[in-house]
Parts: sequence; C-alpha cells; structure tokens
Amino acid sequence: MITTGQIIRCKAAVAWEAGKPLVMEEVEVAPPQKHEVRIKILFTSLCHTDVYFWEAKGQTPLFPRIFGHEAGGIVESVGEGMTDLAPGDHVLPIFTGECGDCRYCHSEESNMCDLLRINTDRGGMIHDGESRFSIDGKPIYHFVGTFTFSEYTVVHSGQVAKINPEAPLDKVCIVSCGLSTGLGATLNVAKPKKGQSVAIFGLGAVGLAAAEGARMAGAGRIIGVDLNRKRFEEAKKFGVTEFVNPKDHDKPVQQVIAEMTDGGVDRSVECTGSVQAMIQAFECVHDGWGVAVLVGVPSKDDAFKTHPMNLLNERTLKGTFFGNYKPKTDIPGVVEQYMNKELEVEKFITHTVPFSEINKAFDYMLKGEGIRCIITMGA
Ligand code: NAD
Ligand code: ZN
Repeated sequence: MITTGQIIRCKAAVAWEAGKPLVMEEVEVAPPQKHEVRIKILFTSLCHTDVYFWEAKGQTPLFPRIFGHEAGGIVESVGEGMTDLAPGDHVLPIFTGECGDCRYCHSEESNMCDLLRINTDRGGMIHDGESRFSIDGKPIYHFVGTFTFSEYTVVHSGQVAKINPEAPLDKVCIVSCGLSTGLGATLNVAKPKKGQSVAIFGLGAVGLAAAEGARMAGAGRIIGVDLNRKRFEEAKKFGVTEFVNPKDHDKPVQQVIAEMTDGGVDRSVECTGSVQAMIQAFECVHDGWGVAVLVGVPSKDDAFKTHPMNLLNERTLKGTFFGNYKPKTDIPGVVEQYMNKELEVEKFITHTVPFSEINKAFDYMLKGEGIRCIITMGA
C-alpha cells in the first residue's frame, strides 16, 4: 500500500492529562513536510524525562501530548529537500538535533545545535509550529521533536540518525538517549586512561551507562556511589567493583573516596541530579589531574559551591549534554560499537511489554524497577 503523501491512521498512546495513564487512540499522522521524515516506529522505550514531563510537576504542562523519545524504526517517507535519508532506512530518532549549519554544528567541541537543541516546551514542528498528529481534526502536541509512542511519527531530519540496517532495533533503540548520555560522558568527556580509577555517582540508567564507558575504556577501578543500596547488585553486571553508600558513613563521601584511593579518583562522573552529589563528585577527584564530569540535571534554584582552591590544585570540572555526541554524526558509530561487541547493550534491558500495555512501563519506572523497558509496537 502506498502511503507516501497520504495521512496515515495508526495507534498512538496519548497523554490527555498530567499523571493519568496513557490512552490508546487512533490518530491521524500527516505526511512529512520540508526537511522532515515519517518513521514507522518498531520499538520504543521509556526514559525518566518522559515521566517528568508526563507528571508535569514544575514544568509547563502541555496536553494532550504524545511522549516518547528513545526508539528505533524505519523511514516510511521523506519530505521535500531530503538528501541523506530515504524510505527503508533504519533510524533512531533523537531528542536533540544536528542541523549541520550552525556554529555549534561547525564546532568540533559541541553538540548543542542552535536550531534543533532539545526544547521541552515546543509542541509542534520547527517548520510551521504545527503538530503532525490529530484526532478528529484536533491537534495532539509533540514532545522533544520525536513523540515515539505512536506507530508512526514525523521527525525533523536533523534529529534522525541513520544506522546499520543489520543492527537489531529492539536492542539499539536505547542508544538514542540514556545510554549514549552516560557512555559519552565517560568516553568523550572524562576520558579515563587504561587502569585509572573512576567514581560514578548515581547508578540509574545514565550512571550504569557511564560505568559501561569506564569498563570499555579499561578503567582499573570503578567505584559506584548511590544512596539506594538496591542499585549495587545490578551495578555489578556493569563492571562496578566497589560501592559507597553515603548513608553508611559519618564523614563526607569525598573523604571516604580519598581514603580508598590514596588521595582521590582519577575521574568521576555525576549522574544523580543532586547538587550535593555534584560537589562531592568534583571534590573527590585527585588533585593534579582529576577530572569530574556533571551529567545530572539539577533543580532550578541549585547553586554549586566549592572552594576555588580545589580548582587551583589542578582539578578539572566539566559538564556534558547528551555525552557530547553529535546525533547524526556520532550515534551511528555507537551502534557500530555494539555490533563490534565492544559495547554491551542487552544488560540494560530488564523488561519488555507490548505497546498495548505501555502503562506498565511507567509503573516499572515509578517503582524504580529495572533499567530499561522495551515497548514493542504492533503488539
Ligand atoms: P535515576 O533516577 O534512574 O538514577 C539516579 C540515581 O542517583 C538513583 O539511583 C539515586 O538513588 C541516585 N542518587 C540520588 N541522589 C544521590 C546522591 N546525593 N548521592 C548518590 N546517589 C544519589 O536517573 P537517570 O535516568 O539515570 O538519570 C540521571 C540524571 O541524568 C538525571 O538527573 C537526568 O535528568 C540526567 N540526564 C542528563 C542528561 C544530559 O544530557 N546531561 C541526559 C539524560 C539524563
Ligand atoms: Zn546546528
């Protein structure tokens, strides 16, 4: 059946109200416009960011909305002006983009594209501000430009990474967000040398991906820090060799880690979102060469406070967005690392549900069960 240029009717999980279970609806998906592609989503997974904006506590509520931004699929059709993507391509839609033209895209040092940088308040497409989804003619808003909780979606081509068609989409779909964020924070920013020690603060999906990066880099010791001891068992599969629960100690974590490592770790990666943990992650690196990388998203009014001497003593503090990966240029390479068996993806996948039971994926995340839940479309 030729669907190019036609409206497609398909199933989507619509969030009608903040915090209420998603409802399976038949939606109309408009054809892609200039620089857009329409993608048949085959697998999607749930990330914390979807849950934060679905709960809409402290964020601008925008409903009805279709969430979802970790996914894999196949291009169904392309809009005008498309040269790098064609129907049949295997792709990962990504919540942040790469226009290829702006100062950030031209810079080797940044991935924060001016045009397509993540925007959680926008509910329509960049091209015309309109949504490509509707029910009975009424628009359903978008989320971070990807909205993958639908059998078909329309995405700006700058937010689409074309990957190896041999790669299993039910696995590599998780490369499109959380996994790459943590992995890149270690491999691209902290850059531990072989044999060095790395502390990972926060052992959620992002922190475990940071640990996976440390394992791949050949780190000698990987120290996991978390307030939740339940996280430690799972983290062993990710090469974390030692654990510190700040609650078990009377002294500051910085001091505990300094004592364990003869003065501090060589690298640290913070993946908690807690400003206390950010300060600890910085102050626990060794003077002279230690590098700390912040990944977690803090609260609005947080402030980072440390004595400037900690910096003068040759410690480096860095931050990263999406692991410094450029979505179109670099993400296909992360998929290749999986194909070459350097990167282990399977261990992140702890649950699978059919699309019709997508609300279960929300339950798992809200209960803090498992790491990633794959949602199989068409099931
Ligand atoms: P998560 O909630 O699954 O994991 C966070 C972990 O940190 C939990 O296990 C929690 O117990 C632990 N934790 C919280 N406070 C702590 C503290 N003070 N000390 C030690 N451990 C502590 O979250 P996640 O999905 O893995 O995401 C981690 C962070 O990364 C979040 O803040 C998220 O918003 C952020 N994030 C950033 C980017 C980016 O590009 N910079 C991208 C995606 C996610
Ligand atoms: Zn750009």
